[in-house]
Amino acid sequence: MILKRYLLAPGPTPIPPEVLLSMAMPIIHHRSPDFLPILDSAKKGLQWIYQTKNDVLILCSTGTGGMVAAVNNFFSPGEKVLVINGGKFGERWLKIAQSYGLDVLEISVEWGYSVDINRVEEELKKNPDIKGVFVQASETSTGVYHDVEAIGKIVKNYEDTIFIVDAISALLAHDIKTDEWSIDVMIGGSQKGFMLPPGLAFISVSEKAWRRNEKSKMPRFYFNLKKEREALAKNQTNFTSAVSLIIGLNEAIKLMQKEGLENIFRRHATLSYATREAVKELGLSLFPKGIPSNALTAIEAPEGIDGQVIYKTLREKHGVTAAGGQDKLRGRIFRIAHLGYADKFDVLVGIVALEMTLKELGYPVKLGKGVAKAEEIFYEEEKSENFSK
Ligand SMILES: *Cc1c(COP(=O)(O)O)cnc(C)c1O
Repeated sequence: MILKRYLLAPGPTPIPPEVLLSMAMPIIHHRSPDFLPILDSAKKGLQWIYQTKNDVLILCSTGTGGMVAAVNNFFSPGEKVLVINGGKFGERWLKIAQSYGLDVLEISVEWGYSVDINRVEEELKKNPDIKGVFVQASETSTGVYHDVEAIGKIVKNYEDTIFIVDAISALLAHDIKTDEWSIDVMIGGSQKGFMLPPGLAFISVSEKAWRRNEKSKMPRFYFNLKKEREALAKNQTNFTSAVSLIIGLNEAIKLMQKEGLENIFRRHATLSYATREAVKELGLSLFPKGIPSNALTAIEAPEGIDGQVIYKTLREKHGVTAAGGQDKLRGRIFRIAHLGYADKFDVLVGIVALEMTLKELGYPVKLGKGVAKAEEIFYEEEKSENFSK
């Protein structure tokens, strides 16, 4: 039999054919009149997705480049920042901030839990000279969501402290209101909810953050957000634009606008809910003890079965690329994403492949039990939807 591939990883994610085709067009010059309206429309589309009036800058890099830019553009060496660290990506904030010479305080959150908001408040009261608070909205390594709305409400009261959110896996999977929630800097990445290949990072910057940028003394060159802002005002990027990816972004935005933000959030909520319920139906445990992310589901490997073996069997035997566990979770969990260009049948494929895999590995599973549960949830959801739209 052929091995057909299904991509159910938390990045990169599948890409709609319309978007793929748009990126196959001959390249155009990034300073030519042809390109300027393309960047203008991408810029406006990003503001729509971010629910913001702030600038949303487009960087040619992976998501981590956006994280580096966030550390590198708003602070001076030795300044105090607070990192909420509940997994591999929280750790990344820590490492980037330390490598740029910031004085880093850490709230260490047990993996699988959402941060206790009171600890953020306490830490800021104890150290009012904290200049930035860093968090993930969705911590992809544990499948957990942190309540960024609640954190925004706290940080907002500190005049010279900015709130920086890595929403790389959360954007489009969760309703995140940049302006309403006082998020000063928020990072996205093209290969997650945006239905694009890897290669673009997005970063929104509030006026409060621009004021910090004015004062910041840190060496920077490639990720110079002030220069990017000036370029974007003229519908350009500071360096060569990632022309094809930005054309693809416009096509993806068109598809998203057709669906509507509310429906996109609702779709992700339904897909993740169905996945969680199906997995529980199979007798497995979910890894998150805190708020689960809508982007992906982290699942504990059952007693006596290595999570890496589940992940590899899914991929090599059934063509389903999910994700294993990282670092100390390696072998203990595996992760199935439902992010971006994903629908009910992607979830069903993932659950079927999981049932088959578990049976092959000797775990007692009644085939079809998880799938039936997910199907029921989709059925109920669709019954309640308005199909006249
Ligand atoms: C994917 C991801 C990143 C960025 O990873 P890159 O490989 O640099 O694109 C950062 N944070 C989170 C939460 C992610 O899911």
